[in-house]
Amino acid sequence: MTSHFIRLLARLGPIALNTSAKQRLSILIYHRVVSQPDPMRPGEPTLDEFSWQMELLKRNFSVLPLAEASQRLRENTLPPRAVCVTFDDGYSDNESLALSVLKKFSIPATVFVSTGFLNGGRMWNDSVIEAVRQHRGSTLDLRDVGLESYPVDTPLDRFNTADAILTAIKHKAPEERSAIVGAFEGRSSNLPDDLMMTDAQVLNLANSGIDIGAHTVNHPILSRVTDEVAYSEIADSKAYLENLIQKDVLGFAYPNGRPDADYKVKHRDLVEKLGFNVAVSTHWGVSTRESDPYQLPRFTPWDRTEFRFAARLLLNTRRVDPLLAD
Ligand SMILES: [Zn+2]
Repeated sequence: MTSHFIRLLARLGPIALNTSAKQRLSILIYHRVVSQPDPMRPGEPTLDEFSWQMELLKRNFSVLPLAEASQRLRENTLPPRAVCVTFDDGYSDNESLALSVLKKFSIPATVFVSTGFLNGGRMWNDSVIEAVRQHRGSTLDLRDVGLESYPVDTPLDRFNTADAILTAIKHKAPEERSAIVGAFEGRSSNLPDDLMMTDAQVLNLANSGIDIGAHTVNHPILSRVTDEVAYSEIADSKAYLENLIQKDVLGFAYPNGRPDADYKVKHRDLVEKLGFNVAVSTHWGVSTRESDPYQLPRFTPWDRTEFRFAARLLLNTRRVDPLLAD
């Protein structure tokens, strides 16, 4: 049914087809795959959803390794409906859940790892989400750390409360945010320490043919740190991963990833200078031959039905990347 639909859509709009004159590359961005629906993380696909998404890609698209796709985009030799699969941050479910699906459908993928959280670390947004999930009682009073008192009666309350707190502290200076998150963590007895991968899991991904890319050490917003910090964040994550997997790490993903807002052109130049051969942003769109290989846009089809997922993926090819190479 899906294959039929895709052929139909492709016939209806030439723009949805990759022709040799106008090659298009869609790069999908994932973070986690969860074992069952999680009301605190409604945006993350379950294992079942991820599985049909990969099966759909395998049947109807040409899924390529990121480095190869970037190279072939420049050479104008991409196959029709070219797609790459990427994951950001280094969540352990990438190895414990997603890997089996990627293997089953022979889907190449790149996992961009923030090395500072490996082996028991936790990203600040996860600390907030997990602390709100675990909080006992019907309200969460954070007025002592400059926030508000929030309802946590129902699962929806908890989701909205975590969302409100994340929004309130997202743009605070890292030190202030750490202090608030630290106060949170102090009130929660057993926040999970296995959300991110261990070194052994990263190694298993690499040895299973998954491409490992760098995503800094501590996931800073590069535009907000000094040049020295940006340099070490990028270079150190590359060196750590190369030492771990004993392979070159040639792909990079900018933390948060919005061009100009979260990283600047000088960071793009630094990534090139440090020896990477491809880098991805979170700017939504599709890459063309003119795209900057150090700022390829990505895209998340969030639909929960095969029909809509495929339609959105094909329609994404209309959204041409404005960040063109010189
Ligand atoms: Zn990230």
